[in-house]
Amino acid sequence: MTIDLYGSLALTGRGHGTDRAILMGLMGEAPDTIDPTVMDAELAAIRSTGTLYLLDREPIPFTEAEHLRFHREQMYPTPERPTHPNGMRFAAFLADGSRIAEEVIYSVGGGFILSEKEFEQQQNATVEAAPRVPYPFKSAAELLSIAQEHHLTIGDLLLANETALMAETSIRRPPLHEKTSHMSPQEQVKAGILEIWKTMQDCTVRGLNTEGVLPGGLNVRRRAPRLARRLEHEVAADPLAPMDWVTVYAMAVNEENAAGTRVVTAPTNGAAGVIPAIAHYYIRFIAGANQEGILRYFLTAAAIGILYKENASISGAEVGCQGEVGVACSMAAGGLVAALGGTNEQVEHAAEIAMEHNLGMTCDPIGGLVQIPCIERNGMGAVKAINAARMSMHETEGHKLSLDQVIATMYQTGLDMQSRYKETSLAGLALNIIEC
Ligand code: SF4
Repeated sequence: MTIDLYGSLALTGRGHGTDRAILMGLMGEAPDTIDPTVMDAELAAIRSTGTLYLLDREPIPFTEAEHLRFHREQMYPTPERPTHPNGMRFAAFLADGSRIAEEVIYSVGGGFILSEKEFEQQQNATVEAAPRVPYPFKSAAELLSIAQEHHLTIGDLLLANETALMAETSIRRPPLHEKTSHMSPQEQVKAGILEIWKTMQDCTVRGLNTEGVLPGGLNVRRRAPRLARRLEHEVAADPLAPMDWVTVYAMAVNEENAAGTRVVTAPTNGAAGVIPAIAHYYIRFIAGANQEGILRYFLTAAAIGILYKENASISGAEVGCQGEVGVACSMAAGGLVAALGGTNEQVEHAAEIAMEHNLGMTCDPIGGLVQIPCIERNGMGAVKAINAARMSMHETEGHKLSLDQVIATMYQTGLDMQSRYKETSLAGLALNIIEC
């Protein structure tokens, strides 16, 4: 078996944990079920024995330096047909060395992957697939208009769509968890959201309670636990303490991400701190906050995330950090407005403001590690989301820019950005700061 990584996967793959993720995937592990505490031992076993148990069954010879290759000088697996900058090639061989299978896969952001064929089909699609949801939407304008026509909030509209998809999935395969098997599709969607929220909470608690230096060689010390202690004991009376807590929650999650433990990809791992930080802010600091508000928050944030995924990109390798922390900020801003009981128009406005002030943000992590600037950047993104939500809810006269316009601008700006600034660690902070 060989795996070849190209483009930003090759340039920042080790810092992003791509090598570890691929080996665990080959062993049949999945992100939502793996026990992160066993990873180091399993990786050590592969490295010391030179054997990898494919799908946890079939032993194959595997020497990392020989079989997992980083092509830092080559941007695309197929240079004659440049496609997405996060490309990898998997090849399988028989014992006599003959190649029996090969597949090029693209990691297109937010944990989504596409085969080369799927990627090309998506790029060249001319015939529209029949909608599988009751309220299909392609743009924010369409989303607002359909919601108005049917007297729905954005959250309710998305809940109806997700319920239809869940019902379809349940026909094809039974519910994933025993405990949800008796539930209706809508109840399963809600239970799934609450499970995601619970995973985020667990991650935040771990991040707030784990001290030490993050792996990777940059010697970045975890700061969230110390900052949280200081907030609890020293500055509780500060009127801006809630904002400090938001920063700490976001940093706690991102320090967990940098440590390679379990986070919820929202919309990406590098930007995983923003969405939980705002959910924590809502629950802890907003009077009357409740579970219904949390559901509105996540459903509305998801609707906004879909707009970016469908019309632009959530891949730092494709559009820079505006597509990661920028999108997370926009999702959280709109979601917060919904949780607070704002209108659909205020949701759209908040999401627009949040992205407008993330436009042009590059991705230049030092040493390819998702630590500097990523951890603090999540804190900044979360605070900015609250600011955007408050601005939109105080506004009474509409606004000039639409969310659709700012999404299109983000995408175009990302495409215009030199690849050195898009998750390659070849420019910006990564170039100008000496690793120590
Ligand atoms: S700079 Fe932003 S996009 Fe790049 S790795 Fe860090 S969080 Fe992700």
